[in-house]
Amino acid sequence: MNADPLADLKPELFRPMGADGVYARTALYTRVVEALENFITSLREPESEFLRFPPVMSRGQLEKSGYLGSFPNLLGCVCALHGSEASIRESADRLLTGGDWTASLGPTELVLTPAACYPLYPIAAARGVLPAGGWLFDIEADCFRREPSVHLDRLQSFRMREFVRIGLPEEIVEFRERYLAKAPLIAADLALPHSIEVANDPFFGRVGQVKAVSQRQQALKFELLIPYHPGARPTACMSFNYHREHFGTVWNIRDGGGVLAHTSCVAFGIDRLAVALFAVHGLDPARWPATTRRALGV
Ligand code: AMP
Ligand code: ZN
Repeated sequence: MNADPLADLKPELFRPMGADGVYARTALYTRVVEALENFITSLREPESEFLRFPPVMSRGQLEKSGYLGSFPNLLGCVCALHGSEASIRESADRLLTGGDWTASLGPTELVLTPAACYPLYPIAAARGVLPAGGWLFDIEADCFRREPSVHLDRLQSFRMREFVRIGLPEEIVEFRERYLAKAPLIAADLALPHSIEVANDPFFGRVGQVKAVSQRQQALKFELLIPYHPGARPTACMSFNYHREHFGTVWNIRDGGGVLAHTSCVAFGIDRLAVALFAVHGLDPARWPATTRRALGV
C-alpha cells in the first residue's frame, strides 16, 4: 500500500502537468465532476441567477475587496512582458542564453481569481439599489491559490461553485442557516462521512491570527469536513460563509432606505468533493453505494 492513500487514485483521475497541484483531468474524473455539478444544481434555490467566471479577474477589484490584507501569500498575479518590440525580444531571448527572462515581467491589470465570489459583488453593485428580497446567484470559477502540494486535496488550480446571497442581515442569516441545515443531508445523499465545524481561515501573518480568532468567535465560517479515509485528518470540502457588511461596504450596496447589504456564500469545493467520492467509495462508480449513485445519476 502507498504511504499516501490518495496516491493510488492519482493515475486514474489525473495526468501530471509539470507543477504540483495542477492536473489534467481524465474522462472518469470529469464524468463524476459533471454528475456532481448536476447534483449541486438540484440544491439551488429556483430564483438564482447563473454566472460563470473565467480564471482571471480585475486586479483593482480584488485589491479593493481587501484580499491583500488577508491572504497576500496565496495570490497569483498575471504578469507580462511590457514595452517595445525590441525590449520584449531582448527579454525573451535571454532564455536562449540561460538568462532570466522573467526579470523583465511586469504586472498586468489581472490576477488569478482566488475565490469564485470576488468578481460577483461589483457586478451586483453596478445594478444600483438592492431590491426588496435581495439577490441570489449560482456562480463558479476556476480558482488559483499559491499553495503547492503533492497531495490531491490541496490543488493550486481548482474549481469552486458557490451559491451567493446578497440582502438584508436577517435574509442572509436565514440563507446560511438553511444551507447549514442541508449540509448533513448533502453528505448523506453522497454517503460521505462528515462533520460540520466552525472554521477559521489561514489569514496571513501575525495580524492574521487576530482575524482568525475574531472569525471563529463570531462563527462567521463553518465547514463541511470529510475524512478521505478512516482515521485521516478531515478535509474541508464545503464552506458556509457570512461576510457581514464587508462587501456591502466595499461596493456600497444598499437598499432604498440606505441600509447596507450583508452577504453570504456557500462554497462547494468541486475537486475536493470529487476526490472525496473516489477516495471513500473507490474508483468504479458502478460499485458506489446505491444512494450515491442515485444522487449523482451514475
Ligand atoms: P474557502 O474560500 O477557503 O472556504 O474555499 C472554499 C472551498 O474551496 C473549500 O471548502 C474547499 O473545498 C475548496 N478549496 C479551497 N482551497 C483549495 C485547494 N487548495 N485545493 C482544492 N480545493 C480547495
Ligand atoms: Zn464566496
